[in-house]
This record gives sequence, structure tokens and C-alpha cells, in this order.
Amino acid sequence: MSETPNPTLPEPNPVTESGGLQYEKFLDCVHCGLCTSACPTYLETGNENDSPRGRIYLMRAVTDGRIELTDKVSRHLDLCLDCRSCETACPSGVEYGRLIEPFRVKMHQQPDGQPAKPDWFHRWIMYGIFPYANRIRWTLVPARIMQALKLDLLMEATGLTKLLPQKLQRMQRLLPQLQPRGPELPEFLPAIGEKRATVALFTGCVSDAMFHHVNWTTARVLQQNGCDVHIPKSQGCCGAIHYHSGQGDPAMQLANQNEQAFNIDNIDAVIVNVAGCGSMLKDYGHIASELTGQAESNSKLSVFATKVKDVSEFLSDLGAIAPQHPIEMKATYHDACHLCHAQQIRTQPRQLLNMIPGLELTPLAESEICCGAAGSYNLTEPEMADRLGDRKVENILATGAESVIMGNVGCSLQIQSVLKSKDRADVKVLHPIELLDMSYQGTGLAEKS
Ligand code: SF4
Ligand code: SF4
Repeated sequence: MSETPNPTLPEPNPVTESGGLQYEKFLDCVHCGLCTSACPTYLETGNENDSPRGRIYLMRAVTDGRIELTDKVSRHLDLCLDCRSCETACPSGVEYGRLIEPFRVKMHQQPDGQPAKPDWFHRWIMYGIFPYANRIRWTLVPARIMQALKLDLLMEATGLTKLLPQKLQRMQRLLPQLQPRGPELPEFLPAIGEKRATVALFTGCVSDAMFHHVNWTTARVLQQNGCDVHIPKSQGCCGAIHYHSGQGDPAMQLANQNEQAFNIDNIDAVIVNVAGCGSMLKDYGHIASELTGQAESNSKLSVFATKVKDVSEFLSDLGAIAPQHPIEMKATYHDACHLCHAQQIRTQPRQLLNMIPGLELTPLAESEICCGAAGSYNLTEPEMADRLGDRKVENILATGAESVIMGNVGCSLQIQSVLKSKDRADVKVLHPIELLDMSYQGTGLAEKS
């Protein structure tokens, strides 16, 4: 990007005058419209204002002072999933995420520049519980008891769940059938066989509370591939929950906590099995520079970010040891947005799955279109999230697959919930690493699902 002052730049605007939005990035868009058919919200509404091109136009017009930031304009911008499918489709390399993210942060600030005051849901649930695996675990104890006694089904059947606030009703519907938690991961697990690498495992918050078994399978698969696995206890949430809702300071605190928790000088990679967390961790350097104004290149956070690898990416680079035990199953693969669009990881999970004897991987139509999960989007934008969830599950069912595979906890929650609502809970929702682990261990689906 040019350092020369651009004469077309507008006067500073309250929405964009600080906080990392670079006006030049608007100018990369040539309004060709090639992104529109890749945009989930445009596919659903057919409204140009709900397309990437339309949103870029709106953001630039507000920045230029040509239009007001009315509620109607904000609505079109809030409806964006930040899935970044438009970035994949754009031939001009428009970095849409670098526009919408800082713009939305500023859009929701108070007039004095302070972050918007969180409502009860954000204060108590999103910031008070979600970023802490321990707190989620305790919160889930009543849910586990209710599931064990089938009281959740009774509440649903008698309509009692409708007495809950709408967001809690949706959370209740998103809750998967919780597996027995199993033991805590130790701080160290040694490589099996010849040692090939030393890694550290990022365990996450929501993912560790609800999909603790996937962290165990990831650790086992890494061991199986000759990796010493460290699991630092002082690690925390990646910070995405705060960052994506405009709470920059706590996001930075979590980023710094993680940078200190992982001793990156002594490891080859920080391994992540959740696309959303991986994308956030890989972006630490940029986010720090956006929020603090410091140069990105040499910060500790940007060095940390270079070590972050999705587990499928890492195993492909390392050369995964071929699994031996067959899994006779027809499966399909859903591309999580934060894996395919944000991290450009598409072939690696498929390569790993294709190594499993007996596993038939059938293509999924619109595989790269968002399922409507998008972080907390399925709680804050329920109508569009439902439409996209239905669209995704119809495509999954059309394949006739017995299971759908994906590498992101948000997608797993969303898709299993829609499958359950359609009485198709028989279609299993799995992480690629779970299948790889089953094939290494010789255990079947029945024991794992
Ligand atoms: S974002 Fe890219 S694809 Fe979309 S209109 Fe602009 S230049 Fe074209
Ligand atoms: S990020 Fe996703 S929802 Fe938002 S404009 Fe781009 S394609 Fe559409």
C-alpha cells in the first residue's frame, strides 16, 4: 500500500477516524459484483445492500459523509456474517474483513469512543461465561442432569422452554448431546514411536467444555504422528468473542495471556482444532497493530501467530502416518468459513480423510457457504441463521451421507441442532480428527458418537 497521502481521502469521520480502518482498502473494490453470488446473505435476500459490494458501498458512503449511519444502514452491515466468502470470490483482492471488522467496532461505539455498553446477554453469558471453559463446565452440570433424565425432551415437548428468554431458548436448542467428560488432559503427552516434532495444543473455551473429547483425540493423533504434545494450563480463550463484538481491551489481554502461556521458542507449532480460534490466533499480530497502533511486523504477538497451525494443516505438512483400520462409511465434508476463507485450508482435511480405508467422501453442494453459525451470529441474528442452517442441512441430506465432517465447533453446534430439529440426528457430526483417531485406534463410530 502506498505511503503517499491520497488526495481522494475524505475528512476524518467519527465512524472511522481511528481504530485501524484503512480508507485505501475501499478503493480496491472495482464494483464488478463477482462476489455477490458467493455471499450467503445476498443469496437469501437478493438485496444488493446485503451483498459485499453493497456493504462496501454503504461503508464508504458513510465514511465519505454522503449518507448517514441510519438504523437501516446498520442493519445491512450487522447482517453480514463476516464469513469472508467474498474475499475468496473477489478477483481484485479486496480485504473485506479488514473493512467490516473495524467499521463495525466503531459503528457500535458510544459517542465518547468507548465500547458500547454490553446488554445482559453479552455481560453475563458472552463475556462472563463463554470465554472460561471451567465456568461453562459448571453451567452445563444442570444440562447434563436434564439430558440424563430426558427432562430436556420433556421441557421441549411441553413447551416449557418457551418460558426462557429467546436467546437462552436458542442456546438450549444448540446444546449437543453431551458426552461424559473424561479425564483432564495432562500438561504433557509424549510422542509415540520416533519423535518428529514438539507441539503445544490450544484447547479453547467453548470447545473444551462441550467437545473435550475432540481435544483428547487431537492429542492422541498428534502423539500417534510422533509429536511430543504440551498442553499449557495457563492458556485462555482466543479472544474472538470479545474482539468480534468490539471489546478490544479484553481481547488484547487474552492475546497476551496466550502469548505468555505458550513457550513458542521451544515448540514447532501451536496446534488448533477449531477454525474460528485458529483464525483469531493467526491474526493476533494484525489485531494488536489495529488496536494499539503499533507496528505489526516485530511484535511478540505476530511472532506467536506464525507458529499457529490448524491440526489438518500441520499434519499434512508433517506427512501424516497412514491410518490402518477401515471405517466403512459414506461421509461429506463442510468447509468452515474460518478454515476455507480465512485460512485458505481446503485440501488438507480432505487429504487426511482420504487416507482412511473404507471412508467414502462425497462432495457437498455449496460446501463453502456459511451454515449460519458465525460465532454468536446464530444467537444475535436468529432468522438469517435459521435460513442458512436449513439451506446447509438440505444440501447435507441430499448427499445421502451418514456423517458430515467439519473442523469448527460453531458449525458443529449449528448443524447438529438443525439436523435434530429435522429428526435427522442419525446423521453424525464429526471432526476430521475424530475419524482419523478412530482409524488409528481401530474403534468404531458407535463408541465415539
Ligand atoms: S469486492 Fe471484489 S468481487 Fe466484490 S464488487 Fe468489489 S472488486 Fe468485485
Ligand atoms: S463476509 Fe460473508 S456475509 Fe459478509 S459480505 Fe462477505 S460473503 Fe457476505
